[in-house]
Amino acid sequence: MTTIAFIGLGNMGGPMAGNLVKAGHEVRAFDLSQASRDAAAELGVGIAGTAVDAVRNAAVVVTMLPAGKHVLSVWGDILPYARPGALIIDSSTIDVESARKAHALAGERGCLSLDAPVSGGVGGAKGATLTFMVGGSDKAFEQGDPVLSAMGRRVVHCGPAGNGQAAKICNNMILGVSMIGVSEAFVLAEKLGLSHQALFDVASTSSGQCWSLTTYCPVPGPVATSPANNDYRAGFASALMLKDLKLSQEAAQAAGASTPMGAVAAQLYGLHNAWGEGEADFSAIIKLLRGRAPA
Ligand code: NAD
Repeated sequence: MTTIAFIGLGNMGGPMAGNLVKAGHEVRAFDLSQASRDAAAELGVGIAGTAVDAVRNAAVVVTMLPAGKHVLSVWGDILPYARPGALIIDSSTIDVESARKAHALAGERGCLSLDAPVSGGVGGAKGATLTFMVGGSDKAFEQGDPVLSAMGRRVVHCGPAGNGQAAKICNNMILGVSMIGVSEAFVLAEKLGLSHQALFDVASTSSGQCWSLTTYCPVPGPVATSPANNDYRAGFASALMLKDLKLSQEAAQAAGASTPMGAVAAQLYGLHNAWGEGEADFSAIIKLLRGRAPA
């Protein structure tokens, strides 16, 4: 059993903290929102009065927050009270630069640290089936692996500080671009009189095959579990896809990488979000590509 502090009990963090409790760890957690604290308490998570109270004496601290500015602010507040030698893990999706700054702050305090963003969404957080992409030293990874494994199915060490975030935004740039490509193909098929099922049957077993087609197919019918069958509700929100595409564009600019398809994908998801589709699954981008305003 490890004493773990958990800061940020939202849609992802709440169930993740609950899974640490299920795995037999003692969890003391904090969130600014009363509703999030109450929901986590129902899962057996111990609630502290402040983030600082949660981290005192914890061997491991996990943060799951909206963006880089929140992570740097919370780590700045808690690190002076963290046990020297404690392991601090951030699982939020944030920019690579902030992630590396957070590692430096932890190092100044004599703490080990990992950036460990996730894929798998709220379902993965609830079912403890997340994939963790992890950046940090070998020693920090060795200590963090058992804790992360209690919340996920795969834990991949991607290299030194910041490389977990780098892997996350590269993966999601592929995802955004591929969803637009798949959606365009269905729109073209509609114009050419080719049925959704016929295109799916061919492309899913041909060189057009990809996750956006076979798991989150943007038209209803071919894949029973895809959000398109549920009016694009649930799934991976378009607002989060836009956030990740913006992060990949910031990183590409800073690193001098040429990512023209990622740039177009960010523009299209920006427009889609501006049309009020931010809460819809990201496969709803097909509506924009059909050129119809949302109902
Ligand atoms: P969320 O908005 O539901 O939760 C964030 C929580 O952080 C909120 O409860 C908020 O009150 C809390 N918070 C903010 N500032 C705080 C502070 N200073 N101290 C304590 N608590 C604070 O977001 P989420 O969906 O749980 O996502 C969390 C992170 O995971 C984000 O970075 C997101 O991009 C990433 N992510 C989300 C998904 C998903 O499907 N929701 C999937 C993969 C990655």
